[in-house]
Amino acid sequence: MADPIKARADELAPTIVGWRRDLHRQPELGFEETKTAAYVKERLDELELEVHTGIAETGMAAILRAKDPEGPGVLLRADMDGLPLTEVEGREYGSRIEGRMHACGHDGHMSMLLGAATILSERRDELKRDVLFCFQPGEEGYGGGEKMIQQGVLDLIEIGSAYALHLWSPCEAGTVHVRPGPMMAAQDSFAARVIGKGGHAATPHVTRDPIVAAAHAVTALQTIVARNVDPVAPAVVSVGLLHAGTVSNIIPDDAMLEGTLRSFDPDVREMLKRRAAEVIEYAAQANGCRSEFELKSGYPATVNDPAAVDKVRRLAAPVFGEDNVIEPQPMAPAEDFSYFLQERPGAFILVGAGNRERGITAPHHSPEFDIDESVLPRGSELFARLALDAEGV
Ligand SMILES: [Zn+2]
Ligand SMILES: [Zn+2]
Repeated sequence: MADPIKARADELAPTIVGWRRDLHRQPELGFEETKTAAYVKERLDELELEVHTGIAETGMAAILRAKDPEGPGVLLRADMDGLPLTEVEGREYGSRIEGRMHACGHDGHMSMLLGAATILSERRDELKRDVLFCFQPGEEGYGGGEKMIQQGVLDLIEIGSAYALHLWSPCEAGTVHVRPGPMMAAQDSFAARVIGKGGHAATPHVTRDPIVAAAHAVTALQTIVARNVDPVAPAVVSVGLLHAGTVSNIIPDDAMLEGTLRSFDPDVREMLKRRAAEVIEYAAQANGCRSEFELKSGYPATVNDPAAVDKVRRLAAPVFGEDNVIEPQPMAPAEDFSYFLQERPGAFILVGAGNRERGITAPHHSPEFDIDESVLPRGSELFARLALDAEGV
């Protein structure tokens, strides 16, 4: 006989896909997810859950109480925001809004979590712990996760562990990817101004050329990873913006450079921030200039709890097949579920959503991005199993 949770997830598949498509058509940016929030709330109200809205502006959380809880509750999280992109034309379920697109799969995350909420509401009698369904706004660089925690989402009920799924188009549908320890990188960025003294390009000796200084800085920044980071510890330093000057015969007064820093280890992270500032300043000084350095601290590394990962592996095996539960290398993108995992043990899990045969291969954050929707009920099933299984974290 088919497993009842799997069977119910399969039965719900058209509904879950329908939710995904509704949400896909109306993407909204971080902290602007008002229509999205209203849509999600309507579904949660249908399940008669206790819904708390307005946590971190457009965020919300819904409580499903176990009749007789035996331990602290579990938090399951989906993020809600789209991206400032225009989707490729020709998709029936494509975005209806120019310049807005669910290009990271967060529409799928919400529908998977709504599917799990449906399954779990029907199985409330079997629950051994309370469940908090967390719908988080502003994941794409807005820090919505941190804001929800600051506004008390972890105090709505006693929370013992936290899990999130992320659809992942680079990996094939039918696979799931999770590792203990660092899973996604810490992300910081910097903006630096190299300040010199402008003048005629034919008389450089009476100027202090910020372009030469900035060029030295860009090259020197690459030595941080090569010379300061332990070769077995991954790290990235990339300059993504370099801007100076107006025409060929003027040396400008200053040059701007901006870049991103990625790391997995907290000590490496601190070192990257410190060295980036030093290297730019010294490169500036070596060329008669000075610098102003501004650091923008981003998301910390997303670090999975080993016991939670063991649990995910055990529960994902019947959903995806044992051979399809894969341990990936740490990945350089950042994810603000990291804030939840700083507060509670848990795991951030990637669910393969690509399908090479069907041409679903476009990367996240691209106008061609899409998912293989057949994985959505499997995600709901995994979420539901994580809540129903009261063993360990
Ligand atoms: Zn994204
Ligand atoms: Zn995302």
